Amino acid sequence: MPKTVLTTHTATGAGRGGRVKALPDQMRQHNRSLVLTALFHDGAMSRADLARTTGLTRVTISALVGDLVTAGLVREQGAREASGPGKPAVVVDLDRTGLTIIGVDLSGSHEIRGAVLDLSGTVLHRSNVRRPADGDASETLAILERLIDDLRESATGRVLGVGVGTPGIVSDTGVVVASPDIGWHDLPLQENLRERTGLPVYVANDADVATLAERTLGGAGENFMLLKIDRGVGGGVVVRGELARGSRYAAGEVGHVTVGTDAGRLCACGRRGCLETWASVRTIETRISEGEPAERVLREAGERVSIAIAPVVGALDLSEVVLSGPVQHLDGLLRDTAERTLRERVFLHDDVQVRMSALGEDVVLLGATAMLLHGELGIT
Ligand SMILES: [Zn+2]
Repeated sequence: MPKTVLTTHTATGAGRGGRVKALPDQMRQHNRSLVLTALFHDGAMSRADLARTTGLTRVTISALVGDLVTAGLVREQGAREASGPGKPAVVVDLDRTGLTIIGVDLSGSHEIRGAVLDLSGTVLHRSNVRRPADGDASETLAILERLIDDLRESATGRVLGVGVGTPGIVSDTGVVVASPDIGWHDLPLQENLRERTGLPVYVANDADVATLAERTLGGAGENFMLLKIDRGVGGGVVVRGELARGSRYAAGEVGHVTVGTDAGRLCACGRRGCLETWASVRTIETRISEGEPAERVLREAGERVSIAIAPVVGALDLSEVVLSGPVQHLDGLLRDTAERTLRERVFLHDDVQVRMSALGEDVVLLGATAMLLHGELGIT
């Protein structure tokens, strides 16, 4: 059944002379998202199938597909085998090989990771660069800009846009409000990169980007927390299927929550005993390199993680915690200890799971792809 036509209150004069000549923008955007989302999830299909899948009329579908072909987002793929009498139908699909996305992950302990990906999140080209010393804000920005330039040159297809996941607090408009590790403060990174590249750019907190990837591609449920343990410790929380943002864009950020009443080590934020001083990869590697037994370091990291997040899991009634980061540190004693500690500490949650992300080390790059798919194509 055709979808109800949206009414519009725009005063563009489009209706002068009787009939409305152009579809209202809002409705066209909505219908465009329906078509692109159907193609993304279900694959190539005929215009008739698209009409059935989206509930839009054949006439609307023909016009939309025509626009999408002209815009270079959709391609005709020739005729499909006829299943009945009559002419075989031409199938259309997203231009899966011609469209690419640039993703950058600033969360790594040793490297800034960049890649050119296709729309499905497959890495087509990869380029990793060493990160500069802590707090070298301008050098980090210069390296990031060069990396994006290099990736753009390596992209064989049209670049749909750039997605960046960075540690720190990031506003809805891609301003890095504070990233103590990198040394960025009130940096309008998204706007700067948009101006520099002329491309659509999306900048978001690395853990939020990873959480988005886990939600859309990693099979996580409707109520979970993702902890990104790498250079620092970040987090994202999904409640009823929605990513929580919080009052300061910092929902899920438990890295600088003090854990315990013992003093602990000095943190990059200037205080002592933050979760990052117990459980970041940098802390784990430093303590082990200083001669502490790895078992003790990993067990303590797992304990402190769960001491920090138990109130969150309890208060929001979450069903699972997903860990993302280097498996050699996280998957084993740290994860086991975190799960046991969490189950001991939260009433009614003695079956709560702490599991590794199935998306591996590319989780932020995959999340960057998801941001572009959502932001530019309206794919949900
Ligand atoms: Zn701190």
